[in-house]
Amino acid sequence: MRKIDILVDQFYAGVHASLSDVDTLTGLLNRSAMERDLECAAERFKQTGKPLCIAMVDADHFKKVNDTYGHAFGDIVLQTIANRMEDSLRLRDQVYRYGGEEFLVLLPDTDISLAVKVMDRLRQTVSSKAIKDHNNKTILTVSIGITELKKSDHLQEAKERADEALYKAKESGRNCVISNP
Ligand code: GH3
Ligand code: MG
Ligand code: MG
Repeated sequence: MRKIDILVDQFYAGVHASLSDVDTLTGLLNRSAMERDLECAAERFKQTGKPLCIAMVDADHFKKVNDTYGHAFGDIVLQTIANRMEDSLRLRDQVYRYGGEEFLVLLPDTDISLAVKVMDRLRQTVSSKAIKDHNNKTILTVSIGITELKKSDHLQEAKERADEALYKAKESGRNCVISNP
């Protein structure tokens, strides 16, 4: 979803949002918006018991993209994968730029087995086509770690589990999804 769509959506939802929630490079919601939304989602999970998953997504060998093609093309690659991730997700899911070449996806009403399917489709969408500008062309893959929130969890513990799964995805050769229920 682009900046303006986010703002219109949130306006109608009665949520107070502003351009300070938006990452200027990618148009995704930024980390501070993510922290706020995660708290809300975790609270809703505790009240309703409906499953909630979080996924960490990290671009593979992104330093090499910058080193090979330059930082400006690296920025285009980040913008492109942000668009592809949003296009691949369901309306209820939300993707945030966590920082650098890392993203977090919040998947409400979703258990871990469904989250793996949704995120594997996202993984394939990201690398399905080359990313190009006038001078450069590359394929970028992502590694993904997923966890499901538990009743006993603090948010930090869930984020750490997703991070561990992401680490395993990198160790397993990248361009894959690993779950850590
Ligand atoms: P790995 O597969 O293990 O994740 O390797 P990696 O190269 O992706 O990871 P590493 O942490 O070594 O490098 C991340 C790079 O992302 C380094 C940093 O310069 C680049 N980066 C972070 N933010 C931006 C940005 O906004 N624009 C561009 N062009 N590069 C960025
Ligand atoms: Mg990283
Ligand atoms: Mg990386």
